[in-house]
Amino acid sequence: MRLSQNITKTLKNVPAEEQAINAKLLIRAGYIHKEMAGAYSYLPLGLRVIENIKTIIREEMNALGSLELLMTSLQSKDTWRPTGRWDDKVVDIWFKSQLKNGADVGFGWSHEEPIMMMARSRITSYRDLPASVYQFQTKFRNELRAKSGVMRGREFIMKDMYTFSRNQDELDEFYNRTKEAYLRVFERVGLGESTYVTFASGGSFTQFSHEFQTVTASGEDTIYVDESKRIAVNEEVYNDEILAQLGLNKSDLKQVKAAEVGNIFNFGAIKGEQMDVYFNDEFGKKQPVYLSSYGIGVSRLMGVIAEHFNDERGLIWHPNIAPASVYLLAIGKEKTISAADELYNILTGNGVAVIYDDRDVRPGEKFADADLMGIPWRVVVSEQFIENGHYEIKARTSDTLKHLNLTALLELVSDTKDKGTSQKKRKD
Ligand code: ATP
Ligand code: MG
Repeated sequence: MRLSQNITKTLKNVPAEEQAINAKLLIRAGYIHKEMAGAYSYLPLGLRVIENIKTIIREEMNALGSLELLMTSLQSKDTWRPTGRWDDKVVDIWFKSQLKNGADVGFGWSHEEPIMMMARSRITSYRDLPASVYQFQTKFRNELRAKSGVMRGREFIMKDMYTFSRNQDELDEFYNRTKEAYLRVFERVGLGESTYVTFASGGSFTQFSHEFQTVTASGEDTIYVDESKRIAVNEEVYNDEILAQLGLNKSDLKQVKAAEVGNIFNFGAIKGEQMDVYFNDEFGKKQPVYLSSYGIGVSRLMGVIAEHFNDERGLIWHPNIAPASVYLLAIGKEKTISAADELYNILTGNGVAVIYDDRDVRPGEKFADADLMGIPWRVVVSEQFIENGHYEIKARTSDTLKHLNLTALLELVSDTKDKGTSQKKRKD
């Protein structure tokens, strides 16, 4: 990416009403644009981060054997009738509209009912099961308050996965594998240490659902964390009886603020029964399909990461999700500029993502933007390169300058991303 071609520059000021740190930083650094409260556009840099997060999730979901699809955002009232969830008194965040012929249409806030409708005509035999599908999709929720930047949007990106099973054991097996896959996702985006599997309300379906909560002062939830056991309890289910059941001691728990980055649900047979989704088992007997559903807030995750990794100079991206590995700039005239042009071509030719600051502005401004954007490595081509062939390299997280030749530079910046740990880890 040549910065001279990027119209979505860094900004000195952010919208006055913006309160959330993630939104302030992401807007200033040119990652997002605010359309209105709770509605943001992803600019070229922001979209790269979103896509990098999606790639990690996609690798992990594919490794579970789930298949990617993409469902429509438009939903019909009939689909939601069997569970009663079309009713605004039951679900208070619906966006709805009407077709020209007067028929009701809803904008998808969840796809549990639509996926079951889809499955109803397709899953007929035990031979069709187990099965799992997932998507990355825009969800619409008419949230009462949207003051947390991309952490709570009225439109946001979710990864939702649905698994159809023959019985509770089969469901549980997939559920537990997914829990592990989720932990790998949060590890790979850099939030491993601060994200906890959290016991939360299971609604009317099961006793618990499991949330994945990242500890952050900007979180809207309160959880109680057992740091040594690496689990937590959401305040909504926090009481003596539950703690005893989970084998937790009050004295080991720390009350903290956290953001829900993921939530997994075990519906058992209930949705299948409600929505008439049955299959014939080995003995020709009709059985309800068991449903489990698994969400990750992709855009919320970007916001939580921005809140978690920053300093007074700006954002700090984990190499696995940074929009580029290298921020490249030249100091000086023709000679260094053509050396920087050449390095840009070599790096991109070697598969290294580079933001090349080829704008006609002062070096100080470029340094400030490199830090604000939070790119892992800053590489400077100066007169020194012309003299001794060394580039000047600095990590975003350090003030130490290194001077490396091309070979050493390539080695350093090519090695920053993990290469899909999931498959490796799953074998052992
Ligand atoms: P919350 O309690 O924060 O409102 P939820 O429990 O209603 O979220 P789910 O239906 O479980 O959310 O959605 C799956 C995931 O989508 C959540 O774990 C969260 O990460 C994300 N998410 C939910 N609502 C929003 C939103 N308004 N903006 C951004 N991400 C969201
Ligand atoms: Mg939830």
